[in-house]
Amino acid sequence: MLAADRQRRILELVEANGSVLVSDLVNELEVSRMTINRDLGHLAGTGAVTKVYGGAMSRSKPDAPSPHDCLMCGTEIGSRTTMTLVNDNGTQSQACCPHCGLMLLSQHSDVTAALAQDFIGGQMVNIRSATFLVAPDVTVCCVPTVLCFEERGDAERFSRGFGGRLTTWEEAQVDVRDHMTLMKEGTEA
Ligand SMILES: [Zn+2]
Ligand SMILES: [Zn+2]
Repeated sequence: MLAADRQRRILELVEANGSVLVSDLVNELEVSRMTINRDLGHLAGTGAVTKVYGGAMSRSKPDAPSPHDCLMCGTEIGSRTTMTLVNDNGTQSQACCPHCGLMLLSQHSDVTAALAQDFIGGQMVNIRSATFLVAPDVTVCCVPTVLCFEERGDAERFSRGFGGRLTTWEEAQVDVRDHMTLMKEGTEA
């Protein structure tokens, strides 16, 4: 089987199932893991799939910009909860959600702008004017969940259904930091 045929077959499997495991491909195509990994690397390089540990996932939108990983936790950044920090030299750092974004922000002193995606509409909003909802009863990305809303009314409506505490970005940052410190102490004890 030619590499091109194999890769076409892999792509079919990814598209049909949403994801594939290297081990399944090894069985299905009767080639070595190394060969499969090379094929997946090639497909990931063309943007056809996203390589993940032990396999590959389909790209949700073929025309989406290439995926970035969260600078804080390494999670691939989705399309609903992104947070972007702009440093004073113009470089951008991406986080998977406000949870990670606010943690990242607390570690960087040279951030000139911080934008988070509105959880309802998806538009990027300045975190200074946004309302954050901390620890609602829903897991979207990292725990505790932190969601960003441009309109306070949206955050209030959401919290009526899912709980959580309405905060400014500064309060949300403190909450996340406290929580993470508690968790760390818990595992060390
Ligand atoms: Zn993250
Ligand atoms: Zn996250």
